[in-house]
Amino acid sequence: MTGTIPQLSLQQVSRRYGTDRQWFAVRQATLEVEHGEFVAIIGPSGSGKSTLLNIMGLLDNSWEGCFEVDGVQVNKLSSPERDRLRSRMFGFVFQSSYANPYESTARNAALGLAIRGESLDYQGVEVSRALETVGLSGKASSLARNLSGGERQRLALARAVATNPQVILADEPTGNLDSSSTSKVLELLKELNQRGTTVIVITHDPAVAEHADRVIEVRDGVVTEPVKGRQVQVRQAPIDGPIQERIPARQDQGILIRTTRRWQERILRAINNVSSRPLRSATLVAAFTIAIAGMITASGIGASASQQISDRLASAALDEVRVEVLSGTSREERLNRAQTIKGLAHVTNVGEIASIDASQARTSRLAQFQSVDGKAFPGSTVAVDEAALSLFEVETFPPQAAKLFGSEDAGKVALVGEAVSERLGVQWGGFGAEVWVSGTPYSVIGTISSAPRAQNLATSVVIPISAISNPASQLVVRTDIGFSAGVAEAIPLALSPAAPAEVAVSTTGDLRNLRIGVSQDLDGLLNSISIALLGLAVLSASSAMFLSVQTRIQELALSRALGLSQSGVAAIFIWEGIIVGFAGSIAGLSVGLVASVGVSAAQGWTAVMPWSAVALAPLVGVVSGAVSAFLPAVRAARIDPAEAIR
Ligand code: ADP
Repeated sequence: MTGTIPQLSLQQVSRRYGTDRQWFAVRQATLEVEHGEFVAIIGPSGSGKSTLLNIMGLLDNSWEGCFEVDGVQVNKLSSPERDRLRSRMFGFVFQSSYANPYESTARNAALGLAIRGESLDYQGVEVSRALETVGLSGKASSLARNLSGGERQRLALARAVATNPQVILADEPTGNLDSSSTSKVLELLKELNQRGTTVIVITHDPAVAEHADRVIEVRDGVVTEPVKGRQVQVRQAPIDGPIQERIPARQDQGILIRTTRRWQERILRAINNVSSRPLRSATLVAAFTIAIAGMITASGIGASASQQISDRLASAALDEVRVEVLSGTSREERLNRAQTIKGLAHVTNVGEIASIDASQARTSRLAQFQSVDGKAFPGSTVAVDEAALSLFEVETFPPQAAKLFGSEDAGKVALVGEAVSERLGVQWGGFGAEVWVSGTPYSVIGTISSAPRAQNLATSVVIPISAISNPASQLVVRTDIGFSAGVAEAIPLALSPAAPAEVAVSTTGDLRNLRIGVSQDLDGLLNSISIALLGLAVLSASSAMFLSVQTRIQELALSRALGLSQSGVAAIFIWEGIIVGFAGSIAGLSVGLVASVGVSAAQGWTAVMPWSAVALAPLVGVVSGAVSAFLPAVRAARIDPAEAIR
């Protein structure tokens, strides 16, 4: 197929706005633009010029009618195909062209090439050429925010030129410029046109229109034929052949390299976005830092605490067995049982302990009062025999109090736990004091200074078990280390050969299950706190990013106009989330480690940090960062590239 095909051909193209009551911004426009033309579009404000330009530049796709670019029907193209065609075919210059103020002039000019995935070398060559064309070579490395209005407009032109577009679409490119800048931009446009680039420019400026081959007028959405026309030397359409070949296809050759470069570009832009707004980014990172620090501290403290419980229980688990004694069992029977158990192999000692119910004990300093300050006694009341005191490694002050406590003729005596002696108004050593238990006075003969194997005794009033009649109790059996399980099995048979099942025996090994339960509860609690913190971090990061989309509309719309796909825009946001989440996780990890080591040290525990939590933290940061960026990414991807023109 050969022949002249118009470069752009619109047949009966209309664009409606509004939902309920619709109106036409462009009404049945029929227009052809040949290769190499310089077309000026004029008309009053609001007449539909920009709308027309948006359609021609593939920035807007919601029109009706037929529009062909080099003979290719645009409405048959998929969205990514349109993005690619736009990026190869068109260069855009807008009235207030956006430039990223935090990037250099050269990098701003390279945006279109970078979005395409061109190599840095190629970008360098093309950008130098483009900056030279517009006379900005000297400013290549200045930040865009330091450019004047005229320079910024020339930068926009350089950005359009750098991609070697076949068509330059300019929307009032000189609208904000003084006359000398205007003529410079105009000269540039003419020069490009003379080199073969089609130029379509919206203008109010008669001087600009004067330079054009053709002037088209738009009024109330109606495109009228040339008011000024001169015979144009129409150049032959440079590309002939099957239509499909004219859509810039993904280049198979080096596709991997281009894709990699595109990814690099997106990550780079994300890094740049994060680093160019340090205060905002620091706030976002801080939210993740708090959450991850919370998570690490929680799992560190959880693990250290359960290790602590585990250590304490481990020794008891190996050498202690308890046998339940029902209330009403006579003293004689109890002694018999203790004696029987003592006879078993590997049993070293047997003692007895009974907890007295607080309501029954009504423990107090004086008979008629609850305690010195009228409040109920906060500790527990237990009854033990002498053997139990030695089993629990109880130390008393004075030291001989324990012995006295155990002697047969001691009568009603009591030991008071150090931690509660003050509450009972009992002095150190307890001399001369009395405490009342179950309405009976007991003479205090000493205080308990430590009881490493029954720490609750430090908060208890302890009386001799012989002083109360037949309570429900436990026989505490000490075995050789490692024999608790074996002895626990032997005891029921020894005590009740006929019905061993009736003897209730437990080892503190059973408490291990309790420990697992307790530490699971603890972990569960700490985990839910850290999940809540993480949720808050995700929410706050998400809302901050969502708001930032609004402030970046121009930048994002421009990128879309230059060919960045919707997924590309979304990817930049997701990467920003990932970077922020990752930075937060590393900071949080450090804070969390310090905090959990600090807390453990303050408690006198051995600090334990589950490595899984340390390894998981960056992953949690990255994933939650990406999740927080998801909605903003979707919102950003939906930005209409035509926004760049407004
Ligand atoms: P011009 O470029 O000639 O000043 P426009 O093409 O920008 O005019 O606008 C043409 C008409 O379409 C105006 O009435 C404008 O308000 C309307 N218009 C443009 N864009 C939108 C939009 N996104 N939504 C609704 N109306 C729009």
